[in-house]
Amino acid sequence: MASSGQKVVLITGCSSGIGLRIAVLLAKDEKKRYHVIATMRDLKKKDKLVETAGDAYGKTLMLLPLDVCSDESVKQCINSVKDRHIDILINNAGVGLLGPVESISMEDMKRVFETNFFGVVRMIKEVMPDMKKRRAGHIVVMSSVMGLQGVVFNDVYTASKFAMEGFCESMAVQLLKFNVHLSMIEPGPVHTEFETKMMEDVAKMEYPGADADTVRYFKDVYLPSSKDIFEAMGQTPEDIAKCTKKVIESRNPRFRNLTNSLYTPIVAMKYADETGGLSVNTFYNLLFNFGPLMHITMSILKCLTCSCLRRRTISPN
Ligand code: NAD
Repeated sequence: MASSGQKVVLITGCSSGIGLRIAVLLAKDEKKRYHVIATMRDLKKKDKLVETAGDAYGKTLMLLPLDVCSDESVKQCINSVKDRHIDILINNAGVGLLGPVESISMEDMKRVFETNFFGVVRMIKEVMPDMKKRRAGHIVVMSSVMGLQGVVFNDVYTASKFAMEGFCESMAVQLLKFNVHLSMIEPGPVHTEFETKMMEDVAKMEYPGADADTVRYFKDVYLPSSKDIFEAMGQTPEDIAKCTKKVIESRNPRFRNLTNSLYTPIVAMKYADETGGLSVNTFYNLLFNFGPLMHITMSILKCLTCSCLRRRTISPN
């Protein structure tokens, strides 16, 4: 149970990756300011979290089962929290989907929206009324740079994160009236088990329904470029956990929080040309015309992200 003065933080999707690292970082806070409720669909997958949490497990960290795709599971989970009192809700659970749209079934697309969009909406609907009543609370959503900028062959994943950005941008205004803050965390590439496995799986897969040229662009052009981008720009889940801790500890938390300064020019480019031509043509050239120059492009991006742009991101350090 939380002791007085401790903030109750509920996090979704904590069996791996970023969620696991956020749960552990907050539970190990030196001043013990957080009582962390780490949730996951299947508690049989708790071992890695429990091991990483060490002494904090059972003290500042407890576990609850939660599937963000089930109304019943969400209700049961929140009802089992003392007085349903949650100070900070961190919506981290998410799934990826990569590949030519022609070869992805409608069921698979809906599954991504069910988790990444409706999963977050379901959680917010359950937790927000109590926060509004108390005139206090902070809702954090793990979005992505892909919630702000479309990325080729990530069409459906990107759409699910855009949907969430639109939902939250609208909610944030109303919530502020109730002294409830809403913050998006927008990482670029992050090295998690999920990313490695997805890259390996997609390289092996057949893509029925997609023509040979599209499959070739995906496998021979997009995948190698994407691997380069992960290597050059990737952050660690610990970095994202530190950024998230900074956001929840800020007196005036920002709504948007890019974690990787290398992406600020990309986002700026989008807003610099409202016709969309600049972004679409730049990405087209980067992928199809300057692919071999990717490393040079990365260096230029690093130069472009001068200190004034870095200040616009949340840094893990
Ligand atoms: P991950 O696969 O390690 O973590 C996702 C977690 O969500 C897993 O533990 C999974 O079991 C859980 N989950 C999936 N469906 C769920 C459901 N229905 N109910 C409850 N939990 C469920 O991957 P990650 O990289 O740590 O991703 C965490 C978040 O960060 C996701 O929202 C993802 O979109 C976002 N993100 C990841 C990256 C990246 O490059 N890895 C970049 C930007 C944003």
